[in-house]
Amino acid sequence: MAQCVILCGGKATRLSKLTNGVPKSLLKIGQLSILGHQLNALKGKIDDVVLLIGSHKNRDYFEKEISSLSGQLGMKFRIVEEETGLGTLGALKNAQSFLERKFLLIMGDVLFDEEVSRLFKYLNRGYNGVLFVRNTDHPQDSDLVSIDSNTGRIVEISKYPHSDAINYASSFGMTGIFAFKRSFLNSIQPNQKMDLTYYLSRMNCRAKSRIKPLMSLNGFLAVGTPKRFNEAETFLENRNQLKKTNLTILDRDGTLIKDSSKKAFVLRENRKLFEKLRIAEFGDLQTVNVIVSNQPAIAKGIKSLSQVEIENKVLVKLLKQHGIEIYGVYICPHHPRKGFPGEVIELKVHCHCRKPKPGLLVKAVNELEIWVGESRVIGDSARDFVLARVMGFSYQHPFFEFNWSEIRNWFNFLVLEVKFSRVFSWSSQNFKVEP
Ligand SMILES: [Mg+2]
Ligand SMILES: [Zn+2]
Repeated sequence: MAQCVILCGGKATRLSKLTNGVPKSLLKIGQLSILGHQLNALKGKIDDVVLLIGSHKNRDYFEKEISSLSGQLGMKFRIVEEETGLGTLGALKNAQSFLERKFLLIMGDVLFDEEVSRLFKYLNRGYNGVLFVRNTDHPQDSDLVSIDSNTGRIVEISKYPHSDAINYASSFGMTGIFAFKRSFLNSIQPNQKMDLTYYLSRMNCRAKSRIKPLMSLNGFLAVGTPKRFNEAETFLENRNQLKKTNLTILDRDGTLIKDSSKKAFVLRENRKLFEKLRIAEFGDLQTVNVIVSNQPAIAKGIKSLSQVEIENKVLVKLLKQHGIEIYGVYICPHHPRKGFPGEVIELKVHCHCRKPKPGLLVKAVNELEIWVGESRVIGDSARDFVLARVMGFSYQHPFFEFNWSEIRNWFNFLVLEVKFSRVFSWSSQNFKVEP
């Protein structure tokens, strides 16, 4: 099993009326403290917990809490305190000798329903750290991560409060849940006050490219303000009611149907793929099939929205005849570049939903009211591949044999990778996102 570090030394300045001197992590929500809810969510995946509690004054509170909890959890606990307030990263450095080679890091005020062990998978693939990001409805007061939608890599990390220059369109909220290699801490000076998000935001591009952002479709709640503290109970109730499912995210054009730019609309009868989609199990959960498709032809004025919707209805019906159930069809009608004759100007925008951006998946999950576990993307283009990468889902090509245009896509994708790591690494810290 694995190790988890929980940063519970934070002062609850915005919650001071509620805390009354008790550390924020120990505030009760329903029957359990925030820490108790966190540990419950980690049960069975984590067996070694390190609590970074800040001042020694907090020790009694935490020891009491642990003795009341630990019996049912099967976890080993260690408490690490600091003589002076070292900030989040300073506190972590202070505890380095207690850390395993890889560890999970959780902020003490975050409630979550994500399968956090998913983060560990990526530490083996050349990354020094992995962090969960999510769509946020309050970006103005969240720490943000900007992600390059072509490569799925981090462009910028910015700590709240934000400057006016921040690009909210490509930004996702940090969730306060990370996984790191212990070696990540080697270059940090000991006994220095340092904030983790601030440090991440100041890293150069090469170092940032070694941190993997992983989109989560599931819920997070940072209990930082009285308003969100009041929402916490509802959050926990909803969490328990969500239906746990895996998603199969299907591309449309080129995957399920033949080239749709042609007048005729032809289902691509791919027996091997159909076989996969009929089986309702993937991993150990029930699987829900959704179609997620970019339809820039609408923005370009080549097709109307209603035309595409009719096509989608036909497609869903045809698949049903093959025994395949589709739970939703989600399309992006936008296109970012202007200059096509007959185009629809309102749809010529930089949107959140054009693949490989995850906007359509966020919509799907909200509408279907599901909790997303291990999922997969099946599609024929590099965009589908990058979407899978951004989400941390597995990717499957719809056919075994690769055609030339596919190989070209993959080649372009590799060029992008090289471009990013070579070119952008020397422009280092001052590299800015295009507006
Ligand atoms: Mg396609
Ligand atoms: Zn869109």
